[in-house]
Amino acid sequence: MTKKSTKSAPVYQYDAVVIGTGPGGEGVAMQLAKAGKTVAVIERYSAVGGGCTHWGTIPSKALRHSVSRLIEYNSNPLFSDSLRNRHMTFAEVMSHASGVIRSQSKLRASFYDRNRVTLIHGEARFVDANTIQIVKADGSTDQITAAQIAIATGSRPYCPKDIDFNHPRIYNSDTILSLKHEPQNIIIYGAGVIGSEYASIFRGMGVKVDLVNMRDRLLSFLDTEISDALSYHLWNNGVVIRHMESYKSVEGREDSVIVNLESGKRMRADCLLFANGRTGNTDMLNLEAVGLKADSRGQLKVDANYRTTVENIFAVGDVIGYPSLASAAYNQGRSAAESMISGKADSQLVEDIPTGIYTIPEISSVGKTEQELTAQKVPYEVGRAQFKHLARAQIASTTVGSLKILFHRETKEVLGIHCFGERASEIVHIGQAIMQQKGPGNTIDYFVNTTFNYPTMAEAYRVAALNGLNRIF
Ligand SMILES: Cc1cc2nc3c(=O)[nH]c(=O)nc-3n(C[C@H](O)[C@H](O)[C@H](O)COP(=O)(O)OP(=O)(O)OC[C@H]3O[C@@H](n4cnc5c(N)ncnc54)[C@H](O)[C@@H]3O)c2cc1C
Repeated sequence: MTKKSTKSAPVYQYDAVVIGTGPGGEGVAMQLAKAGKTVAVIERYSAVGGGCTHWGTIPSKALRHSVSRLIEYNSNPLFSDSLRNRHMTFAEVMSHASGVIRSQSKLRASFYDRNRVTLIHGEARFVDANTIQIVKADGSTDQITAAQIAIATGSRPYCPKDIDFNHPRIYNSDTILSLKHEPQNIIIYGAGVIGSEYASIFRGMGVKVDLVNMRDRLLSFLDTEISDALSYHLWNNGVVIRHMESYKSVEGREDSVIVNLESGKRMRADCLLFANGRTGNTDMLNLEAVGLKADSRGQLKVDANYRTTVENIFAVGDVIGYPSLASAAYNQGRSAAESMISGKADSQLVEDIPTGIYTIPEISSVGKTEQELTAQKVPYEVGRAQFKHLARAQIASTTVGSLKILFHRETKEVLGIHCFGERASEIVHIGQAIMQQKGPGNTIDYFVNTTFNYPTMAEAYRVAALNGLNRIF
C-alpha cells in the first residue's frame, strides 16, 4: 500500500484516491488498479455502486421493466379476462428493484476486492491537493494522502428551497423510491428524461399523471418525429402534458399537494414528484482548500484529459455535467485513469454518445437528427421500418414503434439512427456499430447486403435500408 519513495519525491500512502463509487469512480479505480497503481476509493454511502445503482439508473430501470411486463401481461390476448387486469403496488414493484440493487452492489464491491483497491467508507473532503480527510459514520475522522485524486462524486436532485421536500407527499427522484402509499394521481414536475420515464412508470401502474413541462415540446434534443411519437403515446395512454408551464408555489396538504403555476392554473394530486434538474455533489468537498470552484450547478470544469485546473486533480461523471449518463461516466473514468497514468487520455470517447430513454415505449438514438442535418444543409435521405410490419414484433406483440435511418444521399454514409419502441436501446447499437466504421464500411448498403436472423427486430435495419434506398434516384 505504501509507495516507495525516491529521495526528492514526497511519500504518499496511495498513488491515487478516488472519491465516489458510481460508474465514474469505478472506471477510474479499476483502470488504475489494473495498471498496478495503489488505489483507495472513498464512499460515503454504506454500499458501493453510486447514485447509479442505488437511486438512479438501476432502480428506475428495474421499476420500468416490471411495469412494462405488467402492461404486456394485462394486454396479452393469450390470457383470459379473469387472469388479466392484475394490479401491482409501487412497493411490490420496488421489491424486485431492491433485489437487483443488492446484486449489483455486491458484484461491484467484489470488483474492488478482486483488484486490491482499498475501500473506505466515509465522507471525503480536501485538506490540500494531496490530502483527503474522511469523516466516518460514527463521527471519527481519518486522513489519507495520494499523488493524484479523482473526483467522481456524482449529482443529486435539484431541490429548490421554496418547496418543502420534508413533506410526506413531496418527492424527488431519490425519495420517490421509498413511496409507501398508493397514489391515485401524481404531478410530475419536469418533463426531462427522468420525469418522462417516471410518467411512463406511474401511468403503467394505472396512476393518473400530470406531467408539467417548462418547454414547448418533450425532450427537444430528440429528432422531432421521435419526440412527437413520445408525446402522442403518453397522451394516448392518458398522461396530461402541460407545456410551457412553471410553478409559482407548492402547497403540501395532509392528504394532497397543490401546485400553483405561474400561468394561474392550480393542480392537485395525491403527491408530487419534482424532477427538474440536478446539482453536482461538490459542496461537501471543501474545494476552497485546493483552489477549485464549482459553477452554480455544483459542476467542475475539466479539460479533454479530465484534468481540473489543479494539476493532480481529475473529475469525471455527473460532477462535470453533460451528458450525465452512467454509460458515459464509466468510459470517462477509464479515460481519466489513462491521463493520470500517462498524462494524456489515449482513447478519446466516441463523439456520438447514444441516447437511451426508458419511457414506455422506449427511445434510443445516435448521430444527427433530421433537424440538425437540415440546418447544416446536408443532402440526406430517410429509410424507415415500422415495427408493426416485422414478424418478430407481431409474434411478441410489440408492434408499436419504428426505426429510422438517416443517410447521405450521395455517399450513403449512415448519419443518424432513431428508434422508438420496445428494445430500442438495444436495437440502436447495431446502427451505431456501422456508423463508427471508417471508410466505405459505414454506408447504408451494409444493411441490405447482410443476412439478418429471421425473425428478429434487427431485421428492421434491412427493411429501413431498402425503404431509404428506394428514395434515391
Ligand atoms: C432516475 C434516474 C435515472 C437514470 N437513468 C439512466 C439511464 O437509464 N442510463 C444512464 O446511462 N444514466 C442514467 N441516469 C444517470 C446516471 O445515474 C448517472 O449519470 C451516473 O450515476 C453518474 O455516475 P457518477 O459516477 O458520476 O455518480 P454517481 O453514480 O452518483 O456516484 C457518486 C458517488 O459518490 C458518492 N459521494 C458523493 N460525495 C461524496 C463524498 N464527499 N465523499 C465520499 N463519497 C461521496 C455518492 O455517495 C455516490 O455513491 C439516471 C439518473 C437518475 C437520477
